[in-house]
Amino acid sequence: MTTGITQDISKVATALQQGLAVGIPTETVYGLAANGLNEDAIASIFSIKGRPTSNPLILHFFSLLQAQPFVEAFHEDLLLLEKNFCPGPITFLVPKTGLVPELITAGLPRVAVRFPSHPVLRDLLASLEFPLAAPSANRYGAVSPTDAHQVQQQLDGEIPWVLDGGLCSYGLESTIVGMEEDKVVIYRHGSIPLDELSVVLGYIPAIKNQANASPLAPGMVKYHYAPNTPLKYFENSVQAKERVGYLFIQHIPEGFPPMQCLALSQEGDLREVARNLYRSLIEMDAQGFDELYIEKPLPEGLGLTLLDRLNRATAKFG
Ligand code: AMP
Ligand code: MG
Repeated sequence: MTTGITQDISKVATALQQGLAVGIPTETVYGLAANGLNEDAIASIFSIKGRPTSNPLILHFFSLLQAQPFVEAFHEDLLLLEKNFCPGPITFLVPKTGLVPELITAGLPRVAVRFPSHPVLRDLLASLEFPLAAPSANRYGAVSPTDAHQVQQQLDGEIPWVLDGGLCSYGLESTIVGMEEDKVVIYRHGSIPLDELSVVLGYIPAIKNQANASPLAPGMVKYHYAPNTPLKYFENSVQAKERVGYLFIQHIPEGFPPMQCLALSQEGDLREVARNLYRSLIEMDAQGFDELYIEKPLPEGLGLTLLDRLNRATAKFG
């Protein structure tokens, strides 16, 4: 099989109806999608990614209305978040009905549902009679792709199509939330930052994203999102060296050769840093540097999400 890049939604819809997995654009990162009600199609996602079946998948729907038959309850606080942020990059972990295949939830009692905002994906979802199961379109443990070519590079020969929807506007995975004891809990930091959720809710949700929490979920594993080139945090004591690449938030310090450096944002805007992060990591990874250094974002707003990903990406090389 060769992997084509297409903008033709009907070609991709046909492949999905045949039970094949395809690459899809979302506003967070590109996904590896299949019919979320077809066990064989779901199983192929795990085998293509090399992802353990103990790691559950998110089901993507056009809207909450389409998700109703699969969801047992949707707490009013989650409804409030749905009203404010959907369609958009937030995932709800809610009690499931018997219609949800076991493979989707890894046998767990809750199902993760999301209502994406990417216009191309919305057109695709509107043309299908089933939800799409879709994790990120990277091989397990690698950096998530944020454009169609990076999906093709990672999964070439494994899928017939990547649906091209341009660059992902957020560039980081969705925020995952659920209820515990009548309060919203964050299970994964994501594209909607903690402070924006808190403003809407009127309280600060607890964060439970540590690997010791069971069930173990992919976004919770310690080493993840890592390039092949060793990646470490930049500190002021780090000197410019040959054959080493540097990723800075905004300003490139004096004495660092521009050819070895990349600024993640012109304005120092964290939305832009987020949008560029994975793509820049994949690009720098391909340059053949001996090591990469990246500047640490401050732990505020989206910075919490960026730190979460970078802590896991650098943990492998610590
Ligand atoms: P990815 O699809 O790569 O963005 O990862 C999916 C994420 O969804 C995982 O990190 C899990 O944390 C979460 N998830 C999905 N379904 C469930 C579930 N049924 N129970 C707990 N976590 C889930
Ligand atoms: Mg992922």
